[in-house]
Amino acid sequence: MTPITFARADDASSALAALADGGATRFIAGGTNLLDLMKENIARPARLIDINGLPFAGIEDTEDGGLRLGALARNADTAYHPEVRNRYPLLSAAILAGASPQIRNMASNGGNLLQRTRCHYFYDAGVPCNKREPGSGCPAIGGITRQHAILGASAHCIATHPSDMCVALAALGATVHVRSRSGVRAIAFAEFHRLPGDKPDIDNTLAPDELITHIVLPPAEQFRSHSAYLKLRDRASYAFALVSVAAALDLADDGTVREARVAVGGVAHKPWRLPEAESLLLGSAPSAENFALVADALLRSAQGHGANDFKIPLARRAIVRALETAAAGTVDNQAHGPDAQGAPQ
Ligand SMILES: Cc1cc2nc3c(=O)[nH]c(=O)nc-3n(C[C@H](O)[C@H](O)[C@H](O)COP(=O)(O)OP(=O)(O)OC[C@H]3O[C@@H](n4cnc5c(N)ncnc54)[C@H](O)[C@@H]3O)c2cc1C
Ligand code: SF4
Repeated sequence: MTPITFARADDASSALAALADGGATRFIAGGTNLLDLMKENIARPARLIDINGLPFAGIEDTEDGGLRLGALARNADTAYHPEVRNRYPLLSAAILAGASPQIRNMASNGGNLLQRTRCHYFYDAGVPCNKREPGSGCPAIGGITRQHAILGASAHCIATHPSDMCVALAALGATVHVRSRSGVRAIAFAEFHRLPGDKPDIDNTLAPDELITHIVLPPAEQFRSHSAYLKLRDRASYAFALVSVAAALDLADDGTVREARVAVGGVAHKPWRLPEAESLLLGSAPSAENFALVADALLRSAQGHGANDFKIPLARRAIVRALETAAAGTVDNQAHGPDAQGAPQ
């Protein structure tokens, strides 16, 4: 077996130059996903480039009143940053609903976006998997599907994206900023992750020669007082979402909805958001009946695969409950201890 080589990048240019070897090199940030994949023989890079020395760990205001999150800022530092906690409590709650304190201390923001599915067949090198070996088949279809997708799946893959942070970033309309040797570009969050289609091996629209440098949150003052992240899972902590919901409301003085955002996690290959479903709430009172209309619209094309049929009614109830929690007022997710959740389970 060829040994893996390891190097530290001092600047973005040298990191990007190292990528120009046709896919044999991988960046490593916190290593909390990549090392697991390597231990299971799912990822087999010939060379690792440690990017932790690059200057992308800051969290800073943007000129228009938004916030720039460095790709190398740790998930914990992001969730506990006063500007995130005060101005984007939805994001803070979503991050703190994920993993464990130790993992969040290591996990980087860029790595969180790029973490791979938790489909157990994907992690089992002894069985086929279209995401791992294109064209080999999908044993999840007709197999064990409790964690799998109910929306946007294909005949080639029914995996879900496992991130909590990304569900909040989708609801907040974030932008992912990337750099390659040919320049920089910004990717709207809705365009960052992709549905599996007939290429489930490709999770997102980041090109193989690109580095994520930062994530930009637009101003979201209007949602500060009315947002909630609800995560439903098999264990109360240290488990991936069966269904999660990031909900944010902007309420007018008369109590009606001026703007609404709802993104659903654990149900698709990417955070699931439909602006046309959100617009059903505009000008209406925040009520369970109206929230149910949004849930029905978001889940219109939902389809179960046997063991995950329960996710359809679960997601419907979770969407209504997250919107009710948001309407009642943002819960300070850090008021009850460092590992408290944003919404009651
Ligand atoms: C036991 C366990 C439980 C977990 N539970 C949850 C959970 O409940 N919710 C949740 O959301 N997450 C959960 N996670 C996932 C965790 O959040 C991710 O593993 C973590 O965010 C990945 O970040 P990292 O910096 O460690 O990435 P790494 O493992 O270092 O990298 C992941 C991938 O991203 C690439 N990469 C990293 N940074 C960049 C960059 N800047 N530009 C380009 N490529 C880059 C790497 O090459 C690699 O391919 C869990 C993880 C574990 C191990
Ligand atoms: S659902 Fe996707 S990741 Fe899971 S076995 Fe099928 S192809 Fe692989």
